[in-house]
Amino acid sequence: MKKTHTKILLLAVIALVVALFFIFDLQRFLTLESIKARQHDFEAFYGKHKSATIAAYMAAYILVTAMSLPGAAVMTLAGGALFGLWVGTVMVSFASTIGATLAFLLSRFLFRDAIQQKFGDKLAAINRGIERDGNFYLFTLRLVPAFPFFMINVVMGLTPIKTAAFFFVSQIGMLPGTIVYLNAGTQLGKLESAAGILSPAIILSFALLGIFPLIARKTVDYLKARKIYTRYKRPRQFDYNLAVIGAGSAGLVAAYIAAAAKARVVLVEKEKMGGDCLNTGCVPSKALIRSAKVLSYADRARDFGFRESRVDYAFDQVMQRVQNIIKKVEPHDSVDRYTGLGVDCIQGEAHLASPWEIKVNGRTITTRSIIIATGGRPIIPPIEGLAEIDYYTSDTIWNIRRRPQNMVVLGGGPIGCELSQAFNRLGVAITQVQLNDYLMPREDTEISQLVMDKFRSEGITVLTEHKATRITQNGVGRALVCQNGDKEVSIPFDAMLVAVGRSANVKGFGLEELGVQVSDQGTLETDGFLRTNYPNIFCSGDVTGPYQFTHTAAHQSWYAAVNALFGRFKKFRVDYRVIPWSTFTDPEVARVGLNEKEALERSIAYEVTRYGIDDLDRAIADSEDHGVVKVLTPPGSDKILGVTIVGAHASDIIAEYVLAMKHGLGLNKILGTIHIYPTLAEANKFAAGEWKKAHAPERLLGWVEKYHRWMRR
Ligand SMILES: Cc1cc2nc3c(=O)[nH]c(=O)nc-3n(C[C@H](O)[C@H](O)[C@H](O)COP(=O)(O)OP(=O)(O)OC[C@H]3O[C@@H](n4cnc5c(N)ncnc54)[C@H](O)[C@@H]3O)c2cc1C
Repeated sequence: MKKTHTKILLLAVIALVVALFFIFDLQRFLTLESIKARQHDFEAFYGKHKSATIAAYMAAYILVTAMSLPGAAVMTLAGGALFGLWVGTVMVSFASTIGATLAFLLSRFLFRDAIQQKFGDKLAAINRGIERDGNFYLFTLRLVPAFPFFMINVVMGLTPIKTAAFFFVSQIGMLPGTIVYLNAGTQLGKLESAAGILSPAIILSFALLGIFPLIARKTVDYLKARKIYTRYKRPRQFDYNLAVIGAGSAGLVAAYIAAAAKARVVLVEKEKMGGDCLNTGCVPSKALIRSAKVLSYADRARDFGFRESRVDYAFDQVMQRVQNIIKKVEPHDSVDRYTGLGVDCIQGEAHLASPWEIKVNGRTITTRSIIIATGGRPIIPPIEGLAEIDYYTSDTIWNIRRRPQNMVVLGGGPIGCELSQAFNRLGVAITQVQLNDYLMPREDTEISQLVMDKFRSEGITVLTEHKATRITQNGVGRALVCQNGDKEVSIPFDAMLVAVGRSANVKGFGLEELGVQVSDQGTLETDGFLRTNYPNIFCSGDVTGPYQFTHTAAHQSWYAAVNALFGRFKKFRVDYRVIPWSTFTDPEVARVGLNEKEALERSIAYEVTRYGIDDLDRAIADSEDHGVVKVLTPPGSDKILGVTIVGAHASDIIAEYVLAMKHGLGLNKILGTIHIYPTLAEANKFAAGEWKKAHAPERLLGWVEKYHRWMRR
């Protein structure tokens, strides 16, 4: 018979057995009540026909597990009640392993070839992992009863793990769980009355059943930790409780918290204290945006009642102001300040020599825990000819002193948008090139459109759906060639800013040698406690994501530091429920929680409430009467799912919604809060008012109207 025919036949037999099982409702025999009701009959039969009962029980157990039918857990409890702990353990241990191996072989025979053929390339990494560590994975899965028994059999059958290994590892891995279940079963067997439920033995057995998964998880964690550390010799004692690599937003906060908690902490920085945010990110960009904003006011002099206004300025002085601002903020992140706080600061490049050792400046530091906070760097896209020109990134743009005539900004994300508008306002002709169909593609289309309209109205050339392909240079100058549909577009420029995203710094300082896991996005992989696959190595900030903001880096650092120092007593799972952010364009775009795009992607039902800021008295008085507050709520509820605000000072006024979401306050509460008149923050209250109007109790109001009419008679 051909293999395909055998497969079809086998599938038909399995389908028949499963169908019969459900048609005849055989599951009713595999319930605790049914087994308890027949317990005395079973015991009597077992007394007379010991071998036959054992054989029948084992055959039934093997059939149920091999066919992946429900009921194995109840049969195990029944095994304990009927055969006692030790005989039961031997029987169930073998029956469950044989049944599991048959299910594994069936799945392998029926599906493995087809699945491997279809998804072979995607499964390659899993296959390699199974070949390397399959026994350990299986052991973990078996030990922790969180994973359904039948699913492990079927899924493992699809992998390259060897059958003998599957059998033995399963038998050993399932043994503790089997014993705990059988033990509970023995107590069940002794249960004669309702009062017996409260006997200490029963309570203890079921408590064991409850805490077994916890113990199993701890054991697995311990085994995993041991496995990963075997290659390294743990120092007898440590110089530090915590070493933090990188003194950017994440590293500084982690070191601060550790020092405040009286830990001995060292902070290693290879470049400048303050990292990206202070030196090349938030601070310089906001300083530049501020100067550019002043110019934009001058351009809008008539809006404010002036006939004309002219600002005399030198580009290099504006760029120098940016550096002066950095200098002014610098003391907040300085070595002096942190040394004063009790942090040992070292200037130098850290290299991980082992999970407890860091080499820096030729010296080896030992530490119980490490926080990797090495941040990220600009992504440089593979564009032909790019390497041959001097382009700028957000790291280097701050060095320019001569104003370019025409600058191409590659990228339509927050950094590209903020810098495009700022430099455009400072007199640089900007062409912003974006691959997507909108700028700020993470935001709702209407929001992106508002920003794009504003950019275009200020003279920025926004080119969406343009893919940069190559750079050409000739005697006349340089040009960026883009593909737009089937057209080629050539954009002459004398300066180029590359702002297409940032990638995590995970290479070149020992992480690869240690085998610290990196995600598909290229960031450090962590669990919910910000631990890497080395339980004493944590991370925080841009190096792990998923958000790339200073405030999220600081937020993560609290968890990383506290878990690194006190995790043996209590670990805290990092909370990403309410994360706000803003893009500091004019108008600002601030967001917290979901927008429509994300709600649709995640199939979350929502209603939208909008309040147009063009209606707000203060915005009108300020000649900033544009933008919108857009709130998402579940249908019929005032609970806030997310808010996007576009407008002047959106990043400040959204704070009220951040607080409301964090503490579960709904729109009714915002509506019931007094807001100072006239402020931009009133927009929040008016948005809540719009929601209230749309949810007014119409029927009740109808009755109230009747009441008033009646009162006027
Ligand atoms: C132009 C721009 C504007 C931005 N604006 C904002 C904003 O307005 N608001 C906001 O929230 N976020 C903003 N961001 C993002 C913000 O700057 C980052 O999210 C934040 O700085 C991340 O902090 P971090 O500590 O993770 O990394 P970083 O600040 O990059 O710090 C990492 C540090 O580690 C050091 N390091 C790396 N490897 C080693 C090693 N082996 N040994 C020793 N030291 C090492 C680096 O030198 C660096 O100083 C902006 C970013 C840019 C580029």
